[in-house]
Amino acid sequence: MRGTQTINSKGHLTIGGVDTVELAKQFGTPLYVYDTALIKERARQFKSAFSKHSGLKWQVAYASKAFSTIAMIQLARELDLSLDVVSGGELYTALKAGFPPERIHFHGNNKTQDELELALQAGIGTIIVDNFYELQLLNDLCRDRNQRINILLRITPGVEAHTHEFIMTGHDDTKFGFNLDNGAAEKAVRLAMEASHLDLKGLHCHIGSQIFETEGFVRAIQLIYEYIERWSETGFQLEILNVGGGFGIKYVESDHPLFIEQYVDKIVAAVTGESERLGMAVPEIWVEPGRMMVGEAGTTLYTVGAFKDIPGIRKYVAVDGGMTDNIRPALYQAKYEAILANRAGEQADEEVAVAGKCCETGDILIKEARLPSCSSGDILAVFCTGAYGYAMANHYNRLPKPAVVCRLCRTRRSDACCPP
Ligand SMILES: *Cc1c(COP(=O)(O)O)cnc(C)c1O
Repeated sequence: MRGTQTINSKGHLTIGGVDTVELAKQFGTPLYVYDTALIKERARQFKSAFSKHSGLKWQVAYASKAFSTIAMIQLARELDLSLDVVSGGELYTALKAGFPPERIHFHGNNKTQDELELALQAGIGTIIVDNFYELQLLNDLCRDRNQRINILLRITPGVEAHTHEFIMTGHDDTKFGFNLDNGAAEKAVRLAMEASHLDLKGLHCHIGSQIFETEGFVRAIQLIYEYIERWSETGFQLEILNVGGGFGIKYVESDHPLFIEQYVDKIVAAVTGESERLGMAVPEIWVEPGRMMVGEAGTTLYTVGAFKDIPGIRKYVAVDGGMTDNIRPALYQAKYEAILANRAGEQADEEVAVAGKCCETGDILIKEARLPSCSSGDILAVFCTGAYGYAMANHYNRLPKPAVVCRLCRTRRSDACCPP
């Protein structure tokens, strides 16, 4: 159980005090249910972790690709977060939600001319420039529009972090960013400083996802500072250092993420320590949590339908969704846990595979789920689906996308909606 989840007297799973079995009845399944109180709590934890470092400047930018809807972005606005977008569509959603453009940061390794023009027209705060093509294109567009824009350069520091370990990749083989080790980053810094219409404010890196340690962040920060030291004669000033997202969450019992404060403390210590070492002013620190902000707040409800029992091998329990509403298990073997929402208090007594309804053998949501022996019509609740579930939902087999429900939609939407 996470956030506001509990079991009521009928033995039903509740979220935010709302009976999920009733939600399934009212809105149908599959259904994404969001616990907005938990999203608010995560935002509060990030903000308090930073604000205890007095004198430090910082921004927490919600990486909206994890879950981008107007209601979610309005919530991010109410929580005083900044916002990352990675496409014209996400930017459009942010603007529609009334998000202040100056707190929007635009990422992506192949932003199109149309997307950059939309961003310039909207007056967004910062563009994170990924490559030489974009550097040139953006400067040209700004010149044509007689406009300046703040940029960060996306740096690939040669550190890749995954869950419990980080790897020094040496030669980085990724489509993103300017590599540090082959001179691309230095060249980009020089070009950006010379560019007539770009204001280079600093650097960005994003080293991985679902990270359960802090050494990868620290190592990436140290590497970036090593190079900044070497570039001293360029006159480059680091005003902003954006260390990206990737903070890990507890999908399953065996996941042991750190507390938000532990990540933030280590990042702040590394940045302040390195700045002192070089006798530089401490830059503004930005982080970009996506999954950590919304992942655990989302639960997907399904209705159990068909079964297939292969004696001695496996029992399949099929639900009315699958890789269309959650592609992560099929895409990268992501693990989830589930319970029966209508029998939430019951002991799990069998191990089954939870299968989706798509025409793909790989459409298995949970390979080994521990559940009470279930029947058709039971409501299955899969936890921790708030990030990259709805965001990656697709219409394979012409299935519709499920609805999303959350508490904040119950009041009439206004500026006063969902105070932190
Ligand atoms: C995806 C992404 C994030 C968010 O990653 P999470 O693992 O969801 O925290 C942040 N920054 C950038 C640049 C990203 O591409």
